[in-house]
Amino acid sequence: MSLNCLSAQSLEDFCGTTPYPVSSTDLILKRHKDIENFTKNSRKTDVWIPVQFHIGGNDDSTGYYTIDNLMTLICNWNKRYEPVGFKFYLYDMPIYFNKTLYYDHTQQEGYNMIQNYNINNVMNVYLVGNPKGVCGYAYYPGAGPRQGAVVLKNSCALSSSTTIDHEAGHYFNLPHTFSGWEGLDTNAAFPPNTEYVNGSNCQFTGDNFCDTRADFISDRWYCPYSWNFRDPNGDLYNPDEGLYMSYSTDNCQKYFSLSQINAMNYSLQYDRNYLISPPAPDTVTPIPPELTYPVNDDTIPAYPVTFHWRKSEGAMFYILTHQKGTGAFKRTFVTTDTFFTSTFIFKYQYYKWRWKVQAISQTNTCTDLAESTFVTDTNLVAPVSENYFEPLDENPPILVYSNKKIKIINFQKNLPLSMELYNLQGQRVVFINANSSNEFIFDVRNIKSGLYFVKLSCKGKIIMISKISMF
Ligand SMILES: [Zn+2]
Repeated sequence: MSLNCLSAQSLEDFCGTTPYPVSSTDLILKRHKDIENFTKNSRKTDVWIPVQFHIGGNDDSTGYYTIDNLMTLICNWNKRYEPVGFKFYLYDMPIYFNKTLYYDHTQQEGYNMIQNYNINNVMNVYLVGNPKGVCGYAYYPGAGPRQGAVVLKNSCALSSSTTIDHEAGHYFNLPHTFSGWEGLDTNAAFPPNTEYVNGSNCQFTGDNFCDTRADFISDRWYCPYSWNFRDPNGDLYNPDEGLYMSYSTDNCQKYFSLSQINAMNYSLQYDRNYLISPPAPDTVTPIPPELTYPVNDDTIPAYPVTFHWRKSEGAMFYILTHQKGTGAFKRTFVTTDTFFTSTFIFKYQYYKWRWKVQAISQTNTCTDLAESTFVTDTNLVAPVSENYFEPLDENPPILVYSNKKIKIINFQKNLPLSMELYNLQGQRVVFINANSSNEFIFDVRNIKSGLYFVKLSCKGKIIMISKISMF
């Protein structure tokens, strides 16, 4: 069984919702009792929940939800779920797929997507362009293919959107506050088991919770509520716009009720227990990585540019962003390495660029960014193919130069190094092979004064590229 939820973008863009499974009053009341006992007996601690994100694109690899937006989304989602006690963490790096059939999917295609891509025993969340014409949907526990999933429309997953909170609520077995009214107009005949405003039948009507006021609006609505509709007893409705499980617009939604929170915790424990069985993740917060090249307005060849930084402890992956000083031409990349060659052509001569790296860990997607600047000169030629660049993470060599002497201090005695010097036209002017040694000095007095690129290699792998001036 799936749930369709309304669009945050447009009040027209709503859809019919498959209602919460109908259950007998006895079963509903028994579950209330079980939740009550569970809540009384369980110690309240935060629970880590592994989430696998799937980012869908078109066949031509366009339309992807951006990785930096995803980091912010997870951050805000976790803040809003603090009262619930759930802490969502990255089970693994987001999985990308390019398939238009799933990017813009029907009910059946969405089902197939989940069937094909779900990772077992984690919470699977999909971000695509158009999930069957709605803002998002989810599967209740026990429903859907392969433990179900949450599916979100990219444009309904802005950092301030509450679609993910709403859908995750369904995923942990919460009905809509207006349950029973799905697909009905506000002035329709009262559906069976209509919840009364006075609370007399709240335990087994509507969403079956008594601390969520009777709700009857299954269309997106703006808060504050200001209509004059009455329930079957003639009492005026006053639905709670602050509840995530209502259809008030995103800016109105602020919380779950205590009963909803208890029910979600119970559902996690008994319906989706597999989510809490894996060992807790490493909660280290990576520090912003040290950027090593290009930095501090280095003037470098315009294309290609390989960015380098040092490893940050606890990082699962890095997000690299480069853009013009003004913010234009922003490009974002993901890598597990500590370097990345951008294929972007920095064609503006002497233009200043900014680049940033964010180290992301499993449990912290809100880390601070490291940032630096560089200037591109289209007259310069890249000195070397930097594809084989593999900087040493620990104790990299130190380069000292003056008076046409280059001293290299090698902390790893067993590494044989070779050094090459390139001029700015890309011509190699010096090549020296060195034996393993912990310190050696190259005398390069024959070269002309000027700027050079130094390339240090070890067993065929480039481990350092640096720009130096020799005078
Ligand atoms: Zn919903």
